[in-house]
Amino acid sequence: MLINFLKFKKGEKKNMSNEIPKSEKSPEMEKVLNDMTEQCFGRSRTGKQCVTCGSEAVKAEDFKDDLSRKEFSISMMCQCCQDNMFS
Ligand SMILES: [Zn+2]
Repeated sequence: MLINFLKFKKGEKKNMSNEIPKSEKSPEMEKVLNDMTEQCFGRSRTGKQCVTCGSEAVKAEDFKDDLSRKEFSISMMCQCCQDNMFS
């Protein structure tokens, strides 16, 4: 379910900013996602830490493009983990 959701979001048009975009999800959606990542990875979504590998202080510069930054705002996965999951 999470994967389908992510694939759907990946098809979205990208906007050219150099920041990790703010999440536009409702608090309910955030809670659902947070519960899911805690169950799957044992980590909560702090917005700075990769939920998959636990890499801390993930920064906007760490991502190769805006799509990846947007992906992080949704999935909280660092560039490395995104590459592993989507390639
Ligand atoms: Zn990671």
